[in-house]
Amino acid sequence: MVRAVVGANWGDEGKGKITDMLAETSDIIVRFQGGSNAGHTIVNDYGKFALHILPSGVFYSHTTSIIGNGVAFSIPALFHEVEDIVAKGVPMPKILVSDRAQIVMPYHILFDQYEEERLGKHSFGSTKSGIAPFYSDKYSKVGFQVSELFDDSVLEAKVQKICEIKNVMLEHLYHKPLLVPEELMETLHAYRDMVAPYVCDTAAFLQQAIKDGKKILLEGQLGTLKDPDFGIYPMVTSSSTLAAYGAIGAGIPPYEISDITTVVKAYSSAVGAGEFVSEIFGAEADELRRRGGDGGEFGATTGRPRRMGWFDAVASRYGCKMQGATEVALTVLDVLGYLDEIPICIGYEIDGEVTRDFPVTAKLAKAKPVYTKLPGWKCEIRGIRKYEDLPENCRNYIEFIEKELEVPVKLVSNGPGRHDIIYR
Ligand code: GDP
Repeated sequence: MVRAVVGANWGDEGKGKITDMLAETSDIIVRFQGGSNAGHTIVNDYGKFALHILPSGVFYSHTTSIIGNGVAFSIPALFHEVEDIVAKGVPMPKILVSDRAQIVMPYHILFDQYEEERLGKHSFGSTKSGIAPFYSDKYSKVGFQVSELFDDSVLEAKVQKICEIKNVMLEHLYHKPLLVPEELMETLHAYRDMVAPYVCDTAAFLQQAIKDGKKILLEGQLGTLKDPDFGIYPMVTSSSTLAAYGAIGAGIPPYEISDITTVVKAYSSAVGAGEFVSEIFGAEADELRRRGGDGGEFGATTGRPRRMGWFDAVASRYGCKMQGATEVALTVLDVLGYLDEIPICIGYEIDGEVTRDFPVTAKLAKAKPVYTKLPGWKCEIRGIRKYEDLPENCRNYIEFIEKELEVPVKLVSNGPGRHDIIYR
């Protein structure tokens, strides 16, 4: 049985926590897209962790964690994260890396920085982890596949070719130091030695696991609105954030993904530039940011303050639809307990007309939020374990959202911890 855990919004919905929780009853957890650019924050019995590349299942000794072929794989990031969690007392996790995964190279990170610098105030707000240059190279067919690390003649030929192309840009566009082939070879050899114990044909492993009836979790990064096809292009990430891509990025048949748990945040937050219709500003935003998440809404990778907004039913319904959500996990509901009234964006006004449908980016730029307000519940709901025990206004908020989403809200998260969860 294969379940995907994915985000409906701009990312940071709390997928890490939901995956960590669902991992308890899973055998295998797979990262299938993205890289170490976004982070999951997980609070468990070992402490608080920010994972960027490791799947969220690494804290359980019964699970296997897989870096799938679709990932922008940073080898040093993997090793630093493994070192970090082991140093904090977590048992050495069982990790497998796809022999078809491609490698984020140091020059991808540099090109990401140089390009953002060049764009100046028109920059994308990239985390500068090299993700866009990495995927550009993958699809331009000049990327390094993990399997190639084990063949020096392939590496040498490719390194020469890459230095030729990249050095033209480094010299003439960016005016930065050039790549040196010998240094690249050294880096690749170091990467080979780091990754060697983990490499295998993970698609074959997963297909066998499906036959054996194992429970598999596909862990998505970011959310629908950052998808290159269905998100707020061009302010999106460079790999698909949709559950459907889980089949490709892990190497399994699409029809095996039976459950799509879509994580929806009880309010909105976003990092980086791009359209964000229900965004709020000033003191109102500061207060929500300060109270949000677990200790404030600041980027897990960059520490940047996140942009804040009210729940956006238009974007979230679309987010669920494009994921193919079979159920919703509604998160960070506890954060809203301070509000007398809670605005919800239920429509977009574009050129004088109100729509419930999420438009293309060009129209989105003109959209103004149409709000309704629901009464707040004005109390702490952390610690509550049964749905009936939630205050009535809180249940009304959840049920209103559920109706707007048109997907059953099966899980309600009311705190950052593993057990802060209400099943419906
Ligand atoms: P992800 O990238 O989707 O995993 O999102 P993040 O790691 O950015 O998660 C958002 C933050 O919210 C993290 O600091 C979590 O610990 C925290 N979090 C997750 N669920 C809840 C919740 O229900 N309530 C509160 N207060 N915090 C939560």
